[in-house]
Amino acid sequence: MFAGFDHKTLQISGAEDGTRFDSGAHRWMCPKCGSPLGATFPYLPDQIYVPVGVLNDAADLQPSLHCHAGQALHWATPDDGLPHSDGTGRDVLNKASQ
Ligand SMILES: [Zn+2]
Repeated sequence: MFAGFDHKTLQISGAEDGTRFDSGAHRWMCPKCGSPLGATFPYLPDQIYVPVGVLNDAADLQPSLHCHAGQALHWATPDDGLPHSDGTGRDVLNKASQ
């Protein structure tokens, strides 16, 4: 599970040695174990995606949209009243960041 943030509000440090580019995506990995720490995608400008499991304060975050809801496991489908997108939510996210 990933959380998307405005790239201006979030910086990744200490992962420079684990940076890689593929298919236009910029990915940061832990230089010691290779675990994913974040990624940016050219079709989602100004946004950065972080695996929720690496965040110390993930429980304090308030999501605004659930993306890829059509691919979610039946036991991992939040019923919190927030909008769901079956795809990337690209249009909604890009509109919100403008
Ligand atoms: Zn690591």
